[in-house]
Amino acid sequence: MATTTTAAVSSVLVQNVPTTSTPRLSSLKGNFGYGVRISSKQLRQRQLEAAVVHSKCHSGPSGETETAPEAFDTKNFRRSLNTSGNYNRSGFGLKKEMLALINEEYTSNIVKKLKENNNSLTVGDITIELAESFGFCWGVERAVQIAYEARKQFPEQKLWITNEIIHNPTVNKRLEDMNVELLPVETEGKNFGLVNHGDVVILPAFGAAVQEMQILNDKGVQIVDTTCPWVSKVWNTVEKHKKATYTSVIHGKPEHEETVATASFAGKYIIVRNMKEANYLVDYILGGKHDGSSGTKEEFMEKFKVSVSKGFDPDTDLERLGIANQTTMLKGETEEIGKLLERTMMQKYGVGNTEDHFMSFNTICDATQERQDAMFNLVKKKLDLMLVVGGWNSSNTSHLQEIAELNNIPSYWVDSEKRIGPGNKIAFKLNHGEYVEQEGWLPEGPITIGVTSGASTPDKVIEDCLEAVFQIRREQILQQAQVPA
Ligand code: SF4
Repeated sequence: MATTTTAAVSSVLVQNVPTTSTPRLSSLKGNFGYGVRISSKQLRQRQLEAAVVHSKCHSGPSGETETAPEAFDTKNFRRSLNTSGNYNRSGFGLKKEMLALINEEYTSNIVKKLKENNNSLTVGDITIELAESFGFCWGVERAVQIAYEARKQFPEQKLWITNEIIHNPTVNKRLEDMNVELLPVETEGKNFGLVNHGDVVILPAFGAAVQEMQILNDKGVQIVDTTCPWVSKVWNTVEKHKKATYTSVIHGKPEHEETVATASFAGKYIIVRNMKEANYLVDYILGGKHDGSSGTKEEFMEKFKVSVSKGFDPDTDLERLGIANQTTMLKGETEEIGKLLERTMMQKYGVGNTEDHFMSFNTICDATQERQDAMFNLVKKKLDLMLVVGGWNSSNTSHLQEIAELNNIPSYWVDSEKRIGPGNKIAFKLNHGEYVEQEGWLPEGPITIGVTSGASTPDKVIEDCLEAVFQIRREQILQQAQVPA
């Protein structure tokens, strides 16, 4: 799709965008001050904090934000953004060229060999069993491709990105090397003050909060939106809830950027992290008659203080519910929560009235579903251990690790080959984020290692990790050969 490349044209077109439906958030702008630059390492560290800060900005009990979620029409805003000349969400006609480059940079010979060999390969006394579905999903590949296209399309312009494009350190480093700069996060939030007219700003694969889009739109800068269409589908869903005055129950992690973005498009919402929180919610709705886990209204609000919309009242805002999800959550859990909510509404309002009190659309992303299904198949095999490869802040990877842990398989979640060795050592994370360093993790052979990777992980990272494992074994063999009989 052709797009504007000059600031002057952008500026004219922006003036033509109807402003009645896209109110400017001048009050919100004040939250984004100018500040000193911080190192990229610190920035990475603060990504999560930023999400939490943002999440808090939307939360009800504190009432800190001046933008009530239902105060403006996000659907209309998105529509007008789509037709503005400074917004692109489909690339710049360089798809073929960029996909060839991505292929060149991120593919792996070992993974190719594994695929040719029915996802199984034996090297010495180590057998690798690769999941049937793993690694880069369509949405991630598309996002990286569009970001690469943006660099080529705007060679001279300053390129910013509002967050990591995807949750993978290798890919993020590559964009950094291409001078795509991560927008600094400071005490008050992201420093949008650094973005100047004529700059280009990329939105990552998991999207951006509508308030961020508004700020950029107001600035008249070129926006390159790589948001995965699956994520946009969830936004459409919560907008439908909002229109029909249903409260969105979002199955997700309140600190995750995707959930923060989704919540920004919702009207009334509550975010539930897992089945335990869903049961608590349902128990509250049923006045303690579900499992007795809930308590007072004050306790409820304390528990969900960063997970509800502004002005949320559990006594009046839980009468009509719609389910939505962060696309990378455990598929089975989202389905279970949906069914639980539906049953609850039936119980409270009668079977004949369920439709008036519960709304459901399927928003589980295919890629997440396929990778989790493949993992469930993989753990049925006889494995000595699992290697789960993916960014440590990647939600979908955490769920692959979770499946291995639930099946009692020793499982090592690494974000790059740097975590493996030197010597028989590994540094890894567990599903809930605990960081562990372990000596002697690779047992003597023959052994079978199950391998999978998250949706934002290039195959090359799997290859590098497997190379590191084989290197440990080579060193062990050499040491044994040197020990006198
Ligand atoms: S995991 Fe699904 S929602 Fe997320 S980027 Fe990939 S395809 Fe899109």
